[in-house]
Amino acid sequence: MESLEIGITTNLTAVKSNEMETPIYLLSNNKNSIYIKREDFIPFSFGGNKARKAKYFFKEIDSLSCDCVVTYGSSSSNHCRVIANMAASKNLHCYIISPEEASSETYNKKLMSLFDAKIITVPINNVHDTIENLLSELREDGFNPYFIEGGGHGNLGTQAYVDCYNEIRVYEQQNNIFFDYIFFASGTGTTHAGLVCGQLINNDTPRKIIGISIARTNPRGRQIVIDSIKSYFNCNNIICNDDIISDATIILDDYICGGYGKFDHQIQGDIKSVLMKFGIPMDSTYTGKAYTGMMAYIEKGTITGKNILFIHTGSAPLFFDTLNLFQ
Ligand SMILES: *Cc1c(COP(=O)(O)O)cnc(C)c1O
Repeated sequence: MESLEIGITTNLTAVKSNEMETPIYLLSNNKNSIYIKREDFIPFSFGGNKARKAKYFFKEIDSLSCDCVVTYGSSSSNHCRVIANMAASKNLHCYIISPEEASSETYNKKLMSLFDAKIITVPINNVHDTIENLLSELREDGFNPYFIEGGGHGNLGTQAYVDCYNEIRVYEQQNNIFFDYIFFASGTGTTHAGLVCGQLINNDTPRKIIGISIARTNPRGRQIVIDSIKSYFNCNNIICNDDIISDATIILDDYICGGYGKFDHQIQGDIKSVLMKFGIPMDSTYTGKAYTGMMAYIEKGTITGKNILFIHTGSAPLFFDTLNLFQ
C-alpha cells in the first residue's frame, strides 16, 4: 500500500458504510443550530456505537473462521451486551470476563445472560490473567477463539468511526452544511480516535471534534486517544505529524461528575427535558453526561451562530437502569 501523508495528499478514498448509515436531525435552532446523529438507531441490539464497532469485529471473525468470542467489561457494558447478542445470532459461544468490583445487577447483565454468554466474574486484578488462561485453554481444546478488547477498543473499532466520520461528510455535502463542532461521550477513546482520524485524513482541520470524557481524566485520557490515532495510522500506512494529531485531539474532563456511572441533578434534568421535548432517551453514564458537558461548554465559551453535531452513541438499557432514580 502507498503511504498517505496528511496535510499533503488528500485523495484517500472514503470507505463506504451505507449498511449502517444513521440519520442526522436538527434538534434546536436558537443561539446555535444543534444537530443530532442517531447512532442509537443502528439496527442491532438497541444500537449505539458498540453495535457499529461489533459489525467490524464479526466480519473478521467470519474471515478468520473463529468459533468462539472472548471479551471483557463490567455488568453495565453496552459492548458486552452487543457482542453477546451478535455471537448468539451467529451461534458462537461468548465468554465475558467481568470484574467483580463492577458486577451489580443491570439490564445489560440480564441481557448478556439471556443471550447465554458465559460470564466469568473475577477480582479486577485477575481480569488480565483470566483472559490469557481462558484463551490458551480454548486453544488447547481445539477451538479458535477471537478476542475483542473491552469497549471494542483497537484499530477495527477506530475504523468503524472513520467510516462514521465519512458518513457525516456525505451528509454535509448533500445538505450544504459544515459542522463547526462535533460532540460525543468518550470512554475508551476509540470513537473519538476514529472521528479525528477521519478528520485528519480528509484535511477538515477547521472543525473542532470534542470528546466529553465520561470517566478518565487528562492527561491520561487524552494520551489514550492520541495513541489510538497513531496506532490506526501506523496500521494503515498513513504518515501524520505528531503536532497535527495533538492539536486535533480535544477531550474535556470537567464533566466527569465523580467518575464512571456517577451523575448529578443537572444531568438528570437534561435527560428529562430532552426526552420530554424531543422524545429522545439518553442515559446518565454516557449520552446524558456528554449532552450536559456539551451544553456547558457552549455556554461557557459563549459560542453562537455555529453548526454543532451531537452524536447519540446509544445506551438504551442504561437509561432504564436509573429510571427509578428520577423524581
Ligand atoms: C462505550 C460508549 C461510549 C464511549 O465510546 P468509546 O469508543 O469507548 O470512547 C459512548 N457512549 C456509549 C453509549 C457507550 O456505550
